[in-house]
Amino acid sequence: MDASPQRDWHYQTETSLLQTLGSLEGGLSDAQVRERRQRFGENRLLDQRRRGPWRRLAGQFHNVLLYVLLVAAVLALFMGHTSDAVVIVMVVLINAVVGFVQEGKAEAALQAIQQMLVSSCRVWRGGQIQTLDAAALVPGDRVVLAAGDRVPADLRLLSVSELHCDEATLTGESVPVGKRVATLPEETILAERHNMVWMGSLVTTGSAEGLVVATGTATQLGRIGEMVATVQSPETPLTRALGRLGRQLAMLILVLSAVGLAWAVLAMGLAPSELLPVAVGIVVAAIPEGLPAIVTITLAIGVQRMAKSHAVIRKLPVVEVLGSVTVICSDKTGTLTRNEMTTRTFVTSAGRIQIGGEGYAPEGAIDSDTPAALALFEQAAQVAMLCNDARLEQAQEQWRLHGDPTEGALYVMARKAGLDEGFRQGCPRLAELPFATERLYMATLNQVGDQQQIMVKGAPERLLGLCEYQQTAQGHEALAQDVWQQALDSLAGEGLRVLALATRWLPTGQPTLTEQDLESGLVLLGLAGTLDPPREEAVTAVAECRRAGIRVKMITGDNPQTARVIASQVGLAGGKVMTGKMLAQTSDAELDALLNEVDVFARTSPADKLRLVERLQAGGQVVAMTGDGVNDAPALQRADIGIAMGGKGTDAARDAAGMVLTDDNFATIAAAVREGRTVYDNIVKALLFILPTSLIEAMVLMVAVVLGVPLPITPVQILWVNMITAISLALALAFEQGESDLMARPPRSPRQGLVTPLLLFRLAWLGIVGTAAVFWQYHRFDAEDLDRARSMAVLTLVWIEIVYLFACRRVLAPAWSRLSLKGVMPALLASAVVVVLQWAFLELPPLQQLFGSVSLSWHLWSEALFTALLVLLAVEGEKALVRLLRGAHGDSERVMNNGVGR
Ligand code: ATP
Repeated sequence: MDASPQRDWHYQTETSLLQTLGSLEGGLSDAQVRERRQRFGENRLLDQRRRGPWRRLAGQFHNVLLYVLLVAAVLALFMGHTSDAVVIVMVVLINAVVGFVQEGKAEAALQAIQQMLVSSCRVWRGGQIQTLDAAALVPGDRVVLAAGDRVPADLRLLSVSELHCDEATLTGESVPVGKRVATLPEETILAERHNMVWMGSLVTTGSAEGLVVATGTATQLGRIGEMVATVQSPETPLTRALGRLGRQLAMLILVLSAVGLAWAVLAMGLAPSELLPVAVGIVVAAIPEGLPAIVTITLAIGVQRMAKSHAVIRKLPVVEVLGSVTVICSDKTGTLTRNEMTTRTFVTSAGRIQIGGEGYAPEGAIDSDTPAALALFEQAAQVAMLCNDARLEQAQEQWRLHGDPTEGALYVMARKAGLDEGFRQGCPRLAELPFATERLYMATLNQVGDQQQIMVKGAPERLLGLCEYQQTAQGHEALAQDVWQQALDSLAGEGLRVLALATRWLPTGQPTLTEQDLESGLVLLGLAGTLDPPREEAVTAVAECRRAGIRVKMITGDNPQTARVIASQVGLAGGKVMTGKMLAQTSDAELDALLNEVDVFARTSPADKLRLVERLQAGGQVVAMTGDGVNDAPALQRADIGIAMGGKGTDAARDAAGMVLTDDNFATIAAAVREGRTVYDNIVKALLFILPTSLIEAMVLMVAVVLGVPLPITPVQILWVNMITAISLALALAFEQGESDLMARPPRSPRQGLVTPLLLFRLAWLGIVGTAAVFWQYHRFDAEDLDRARSMAVLTLVWIEIVYLFACRRVLAPAWSRLSLKGVMPALLASAVVVVLQWAFLELPPLQQLFGSVSLSWHLWSEALFTALLVLLAVEGEKALVRLLRGAHGDSERVMNNGVGR
């Protein structure tokens, strides 16, 4: 076989193509696949957009704060303070390395998570259609395509049915291109080779089968050197806002310090050379060096936690938007319901049939009071079997369905009626109109004996409009619309998903099938009522969302009655249901008013979904919207968070979404919202933890300047506190599980700043109390032994950090209540580590030399701790006061959301 990438495939005849590629009707054999895999490698493109390690390392130095530090180092060097300069440079280096490693880890973690989303494809192998990872394709594979699929390799088409592809990734042209199978002249240019489809393009409508002619880098896409999978840089609006806030606060501290220094020079007559260590100290103190690393880690941990609970984040900003979602628009089938469908009832013109059995096992009794109904049911079962792409497989006593569950249920029903695969093979499919949401039905043309027959299944409203006749025991007669409508209402009223089955016998043979063929002579065979029970966890999750101030709306393509029943079963207000038709007749202003009342939308089209997102957003809502179909992409992109289904969703929907549910489950959305809120809280808490340390340090230095005493903490010691102890402790906050009232507060307003006024107040309060405590401990010893006094100041500051970590874990709730102490392990561990580090700082000679520290007695250790506990008392006292004023018990809602006085 010769499948060289340069070969042009469009002008070969089908026979020569099959011959060259050595392909068989039922796909390649295992041996062929193995051999080709070795020869052509995996079907993957090179990952070119990842930044190389050197560029990532260089990126770490590109940071205003680090520039400031470096300038301070140069200044220190010139003034002869070599050790200060060395330490500062070391800090810059350590900071860069820590950032480099953390960012690398975060990037790797994110990429690993993205890999969970490998796109799968359907391919013939060894006589069967299998679902495989697209990377496993080799030239010669026979691939089956359906609407919504991303084309997994370059294919030459063998058969098509209304196939259109969006080739924008390749050509930039976003109008879908129609495809055919006919062999083309050799000179046809690439863009006009309509019998080929290219890797990376999207199937927008129709279905097809094609032969893989090129894989991986040999494809057109691979040759352009483009790549599909992208790794996002770990920067989001939140991290940017944080950076800005950090810089602003640092600026504020610097300005205040400049004033202090000016005062020192002018009023106290301090020589400028004496000022240098003070200036360096203040600069070093003011810059929260560890913050960026902590934020990246917190985000990465959140994303990993979400992935574990089945929500894969594709776009990092989603993590923080999750915390402010106010409306979740969910589809019904598979998300709120289990998507395990069993057809229970079938209504014919002669009466009802009851179908027994559980799950997908093709065994179950067929019962009816009227024998005539049974005969009609058999005809309907043939349609159910033939107009169907589902397949059953038995593995270890378990029946597994391949294909769409709606089809699966009908397939199982046909099997229960006694039809099997042999029957399906005996009635070959000559043409088809694949299911599309706009069409609401699927139709096939089959050869049944010496006759041709059109088989149709689809939404009853649609087919009742199309059918002219109904089948009876005697033949067929005019359709009794009212009777069927009643039957439909009654089935849907039981919460069943209803599909109509219809057929048309064609007098003469015809090779094609068009929508016009269904416009006359169609005979209705009956209605199938399929049970798709709600997910239990969805009920809990809907209730949780409500408590969290999030409105849940169901937007489904299904029948309004069915939607209403399922909605009330999962706990949605199913009273009023709007259909796509009603939406079309409603003006924007009317709709805006209705959106407050209506939570269930049925028989909607993807365009309706888009309009609903837009109207909700116009009303100030932050909208999460689920979708799975190829046409859902615009709504998913428009929504604040587009959520695609990993299981039943199409590649098109996944590409447009910010988050993908690997289990298609509504409960996962609620879990992701919880996680999103936790991450946001944890980042704010990390900020609240790190900033006071900087504040206290800067203020202690200023007080010293103003009082004209030597610096209580040297620049090197400040770096120790900022880089080692503060970061180690703040890390614990990244692992916090979220407060008990996390899902009892309303969503955060996206316009709200990071730090609320109340939190700013706490910062200032802690700054003052902490400064007093540190300065006091320093001042007790500074006259007799400066090194000892400084060691005592550092120790007190570190103890304050440790105890404040516990206060910081809960925004308003007391640090030591039973509820608050849940999940305290990371904080305890971090504290233990920091105590050991601080011991080393004070006791180990090399560190003593580096930092100018001295050994302190246990006595002094406990005195420092006691002072810190007093500071803790001050912070907890402030919390208690706020709780008292609010009458709230541990309710952090207002504090985290809107600050004082809302
Ligand atoms: P949801 O939007 O909640 O996922 P849904 O699955 O009912 O609900 P669609 O997939 O848009 O939404 O389907 C709309 C309707 O089309 C269904 O209610 C059903 O009547 C019909 N339908 C669904 N799948 C098929 C199919 N494979 N063949 C024929 N008709 C179908």
